[in-house]
Amino acid sequence: MKVNIIVPCYNEEAVLHMFYDECTKVINTVQGYEFEYLFINDGSKDSTLKIMQDLAQKDDRVKYISFSRNFGKESAMYAGLKNSTGDYMLVLDADLQHPPALIPEMLKVMEEGYDCCATNRADRDNDSKLRQGFTNVFYKMINKISDVDMPNGAGDFRMMNRKMVDAVIAMSEVQRFSKGIFSWVGFDTKWISFHDVERAAGETKWSFWSLFKYAVEGITAFSTAPLKIATFVGGFVSAAAFIYLVCVVVRTLVHGIDEPGYASLMAVVLFIGGFIILSIGFLGEYIAKIYMEVKDRPVYIIGKTNLEDPKHDYR
Ligand code: UDP
Ligand code: MG
Repeated sequence: MKVNIIVPCYNEEAVLHMFYDECTKVINTVQGYEFEYLFINDGSKDSTLKIMQDLAQKDDRVKYISFSRNFGKESAMYAGLKNSTGDYMLVLDADLQHPPALIPEMLKVMEEGYDCCATNRADRDNDSKLRQGFTNVFYKMINKISDVDMPNGAGDFRMMNRKMVDAVIAMSEVQRFSKGIFSWVGFDTKWISFHDVERAAGETKWSFWSLFKYAVEGITAFSTAPLKIATFVGGFVSAAAFIYLVCVVVRTLVHGIDEPGYASLMAVVLFIGGFIILSIGFLGEYIAKIYMEVKDRPVYIIGKTNLEDPKHDYR
């Protein structure tokens, strides 16, 4: 049995050695499996690629793919899965926030016959309160309005078998939201939880703004509910407006012309105007997605690699 360990790395010079040492310690204790690292250098601006090359020199289980620029973690995971050749594929972060110590347990789960062993963080103590709050809202919302089921705390740290990985890479959308894709493809998944650990070194690449964009990405990728809001609210407002119209006409016929209703007029105009602009914004999100998808640009471009037969994403 062969296991691919796929590690997306962006500016991880501070932890990559540590990650390799710790992970290698774990896999050396596991019998009966052949392991292969597949490091993805996602256009790092530091010496991450150099470290990968050095590791590949001394350990021939180390393979790497280096992108021509930074494409984002989603692209890195896709490239890793697409270039995987194992029976089981493991995706984990380079910063040791996904403890390699879980590998033996995950392998056990796979041997039980599951297609996937996924993990969720039992706690999020290392995230700020604000981030935790927004994360909770995001998961509640996406689970309600989309047909995918994403447990709060679900991460990308998971092991999958060939069958599932083939299904995941068959979803070749350009704007990828892996959490949704993993859940959308289905398959028998066992969830195990682990305790949140702090990044071993280096810095997180997520700013609040990038997380917000990620959330919008997730919602628009797996739900069309925002498009329907306009239909519902529009229908409601039209019905209310009609009733009000009848009232105004009847009142005018009975009592004559009223005094000018500046405040109510202003309120209605602003509310409806605001709502129309918001709806156009929702429409715009989806049109932007369609635009990016029809261009069908590659999700990643390989600059350097030590794979003999790298799989490109030239569509
Ligand atoms: N990462 C990447 N490309 C990016 C940003 C991040 O490959 O553009 C990798 C990063 O090197 C790490 C993983 O994705 O291995 C998770 O990133 P990070 O630790 O910054 O995210 P967090 O754990 O804070 O969610
Ligand atoms: Mg991290």
